[in-house]
Amino acid sequence: MSLPSTDTAVTYPDGDLTSTGAVVFVQPLDDGRTAVVLDRTAFHPVDPVWPDQPADAGTITVDGRAYEVVDAVVGATDGTTLHVGDAPVRTGTEGWAFVVCHLVQDATGIEPGAAAAVSVDPARRHALSAGHTACHLASLALNDALPGLWTKEVAVDGRGRPNFDQLAITSSRILEGGSVDEYRIGKSLRKKGFAAADLPARLDEVTAAANRTLADWIASGAAISIVREGGRPGLGDRRRWHAELPDGVVEIPCGGTHLRSLTELAGADIHLDLAETEGAVVLTMRTTAHLA
Ligand SMILES: [Zn+2]
Repeated sequence: MSLPSTDTAVTYPDGDLTSTGAVVFVQPLDDGRTAVVLDRTAFHPVDPVWPDQPADAGTITVDGRAYEVVDAVVGATDGTTLHVGDAPVRTGTEGWAFVVCHLVQDATGIEPGAAAAVSVDPARRHALSAGHTACHLASLALNDALPGLWTKEVAVDGRGRPNFDQLAITSSRILEGGSVDEYRIGKSLRKKGFAAADLPARLDEVTAAANRTLADWIASGAAISIVREGGRPGLGDRRRWHAELPDGVVEIPCGGTHLRSLTELAGADIHLDLAETEGAVVLTMRTTAHLA
């Protein structure tokens, strides 16, 4: 059994919930579980480097036996070792193969070369996709509500607004039906011209403006898709979230799964909280997606 030399072909960006493929590598882990690598999968893994969207739930069926996938993580190999969830390089780094590691409790009967069918829990996937789509919309709506707080020119988002989201984000967690994003407003953001001292007094106004923008976008029923760079299918290949919003197309680099259209949402809203830490202010944005 040799280590994989190419990326797992991933079909979840197209919305797939099932896939067929072959087992290419099996690696027992120290905790008793086993990582199973397939040549092709519909199963979305968590990427520990930027763990925004958690893993799908579901099963792998080999030889008529269904194995529950208890977790799925990005694995990486340079041909010497398979790093399971602890790659020393960023996903997509040249010279490495990036693979979906499906973790099972007991891999008895799973051998390289065997045919494998993947099945993903549709309810969890749909809820995570709704949460992830709402998260990207919310980040754009937040950027749209903040320009009055910038006193200098900074990098802009796909709609030409100062990209507060990209400049300040420290973590993003996709939940079933929502997301939680944390932004750090410290010395460097203030130096870039963000009027942090004015934010507390304007928080309600910013929240209301972002929620109005979200409502307008969702009412438009915009189409959403994932664009694969060069059409390439590998886990480590770059992909972009593509939204046809009323005032133009917006794209955001993204490795997750999404709704196909905003008609799948009845609404979405954000809630903002500010907290003080040493030398910085932390802004937390909680986004809720309401399925139609
Ligand atoms: Zn994303």
